[in-house]
Amino acid sequence: MKSPYRSMMILLLALLAATPALADLKVATSLTDLASVAQFVGGKHVSAQSLCRGFEDPHFVPAKPSLMKAIQHADVFVSTGLELDSGWLPLVLPGSRNPKIQQGAKGFVDASEGVTVLEKPTGTVNRAEGDVHPLGNPHYYADPKNLEVVANHLADVFSELDPANAADYAANAKAFGERMEGSLVKWEQAMAPYNGAPVVTYHKNFVYFADRFGLKLFGTVEPKPGIPPSPRYISDLAEAMKKAGAKVVLYQPYYDADASNQVAKLAGATAIEIATEAGGVPGTDDVFSKFDTLVSSIAGALSGKSGGAR
Ligand SMILES: [Zn+2]
Repeated sequence: MKSPYRSMMILLLALLAATPALADLKVATSLTDLASVAQFVGGKHVSAQSLCRGFEDPHFVPAKPSLMKAIQHADVFVSTGLELDSGWLPLVLPGSRNPKIQQGAKGFVDASEGVTVLEKPTGTVNRAEGDVHPLGNPHYYADPKNLEVVANHLADVFSELDPANAADYAANAKAFGERMEGSLVKWEQAMAPYNGAPVVTYHKNFVYFADRFGLKLFGTVEPKPGIPPSPRYISDLAEAMKKAGAKVVLYQPYYDADASNQVAKLAGATAIEIATEAGGVPGTDDVFSKFDTLVSSIAGALSGKSGGAR
């Protein structure tokens, strides 16, 4: 005979098993890469989520009420910094009405702190002309080494907010750094044959990757960050690429594939879609798989053995 109490107990146990353990720290980030690093560093003590998804342009995320709600109860907010999220975060953060994560609060982190910034402007910056990199290039997460800086920074922040687990955060950050160093050797070997190869990118979001792996940035499909190309600009760029022997155009899922493919076609080059942010293309769920995929696609395109205009 079935006892109703027994059925209820089984149901309760099943519910308990299905409920994830409550994390000590709820972390939200403006970028998928930062959520990935936060999850590695936080381990079981942290649940991390990104507001911008990997296939969205991190400069231009719609400041929807759902994003504000998503961070209502966050303990930590990790901003990319360098104004990468300045078009939407100043609306989303106050909209959350969460005092713990407002700028200046203990739970607000600028992940660019400690990173060596490239392309710092020397003259006056004209935002009206669409320059979305006024503090230097904010796409530092395209260099694996910079993510090590972020990991150590986050370990410090988590330890301060949750001292009971400080030893775990430090150990996780160390393990993250070691895994990144080991992976870097592998990625550098894969890129070594293409040292000095010229590449064109849609947006100036590849300077840190190029710097780390010895590629030469030949030009961008958009004439300035945030400004789409004119037909004249496209044909001039393609002409210059032909002369220089630049064979590869790289663009992210959220940029104009048509313009990139048009440039490539005119120049006799190959345009490929890549993910600079984790989750941008399938199979890039964390920062390690992101770089694995990025390196193999770019090495493949430069070798001329894979890719192809789409
Ligand atoms: Zn940018």
